[in-house]
Amino acid sequence: MAAASDTRTPVGCERPTFAALLAPVKLAVCTETRPGETRVAIVPDVAAKLASSGIEVAIQAGAGAAARFPDAAYERAGASVLPDAAAVLAGAAMVAGVQPPSVEEVAELPEGVSVVSFLQPGQVPEIVQALAAKKATAYSLDLLPRITRAQSMDALSSQATVSGYRAGLSAAEHLAKFFPMFMTAAGTVPPAKVLVMGAGVAGLQAIATARRLGAVVKAYDVRAAAKEEVKSLGANFVELGLESQEGSGGYAREQSAEYQAKQQELLAAEVIASDVVITTAQIPGRKAPVLVTRAMVEQMANGAVIVDIAADTGGNCELTVAGENIVTDNGVTVVGMTNPPAQMPTHASFLYSRNIANFLALVVKEGELTPDFDDEIVIGTCVVRAGQVIDKTAPAAPPPPPPSAAPSNEPGDQGEHSDGEGGS
Ligand code: NAD
Repeated sequence: MAAASDTRTPVGCERPTFAALLAPVKLAVCTETRPGETRVAIVPDVAAKLASSGIEVAIQAGAGAAARFPDAAYERAGASVLPDAAAVLAGAAMVAGVQPPSVEEVAELPEGVSVVSFLQPGQVPEIVQALAAKKATAYSLDLLPRITRAQSMDALSSQATVSGYRAGLSAAEHLAKFFPMFMTAAGTVPPAKVLVMGAGVAGLQAIATARRLGAVVKAYDVRAAAKEEVKSLGANFVELGLESQEGSGGYAREQSAEYQAKQQELLAAEVIASDVVITTAQIPGRKAPVLVTRAMVEQMANGAVIVDIAADTGGNCELTVAGENIVTDNGVTVVGMTNPPAQMPTHASFLYSRNIANFLALVVKEGELTPDFDDEIVIGTCVVRAGQVIDKTAPAAPPPPPPSAAPSNEPGDQGEHSDGEGGS
């Protein structure tokens, strides 16, 4: 029965410690291939920090270039810079990415590898199935529970911060007016009137950015809790007198058609009076709600600007075209901003990379990949565990079988878990 094949076992040493035989955990980072994606999952200084915790980073040559991190910086950080994805992935225990891999990319992964990325499992179920076929373990950062202990890993928040900032800047760039008030010898220029719709992480950053640029800002959200946060940034909260739409986990719940119609009716005057409308409203796992209708846009002033950062999920404005800036017949610019963090990839990657490193600290201990699936962060983000898909929408586990039924000790059973967080 003894394993005679392990020639590394010293003669007379019957029980070598497992850790002593372990090489560092190899973390593979490939170039992002989705069109328009400029971020990289690991930046050089994070690669250096990971090395000191027993994680060796192998990165594809050029992977950080679009985010302004050259190969030489990774080499200085002690990472291995390898010519292609195949070399990076060979022997990797973990893979870190930004966007979900394609089905073709999953096919190239080593069997049994662990993957951490934004996986959006609700939107791309075929990727989840492909990962399962590879017997992979996959963690999706978009499912991270929004709990205090997970804040340092909260990639949705870090990237939403970038999105909100970019939205504020984009609005200022497209507006043919100043944001701040100017009192000059030639006359006084009034400040721009900015309305931010959706005051979550991105919306609050858009408010802060517009305020820093000197605009007068109003904001609206369906969650009553957003009011104090809006006011703390020096903006005015738009009260519609409608019922708060707070759902689970602090997110907004999906609103009924009647609610949306009433909301649109009440918001119209605010939209029409604004120089700039920045829309950031999202409902997790659903199409973005329409807040700005065609009729509203038709009544806005010539030169007004709408920046819609919900464009990737259908848009908050009826006229939004994802990835395009359109100008309507009455002169309103509608910016359908897609993947805003990719427009500021250095700091977006800087923050994302730290989120990844903090998550890795949870699953890699003393140079060993040892995830604790009883940890709500680990199980909350895990969508595939050693090839078994974890159904995030499943109801609570069924009661145990009656005593007469044959007991089952299937190891896979322990991977099934419903944490009540809902799908992405
Ligand atoms: P999100 O991106 O899902 O949505 C953006 C905003 O759109 C939300 O504020 C939502 O209420 C709003 N919205 C939805 N439908 C709307 C509509 N019809 N009209 C106007 N606004 C609408 O949300 P998010 O930014 O990821 O954050 C959601 C919540 O999570 C916030 O309360 C945030 O403070 C909280 N949060 C908590 C933590 C934590 O660690 N505790 C971390 C991050 C975020």
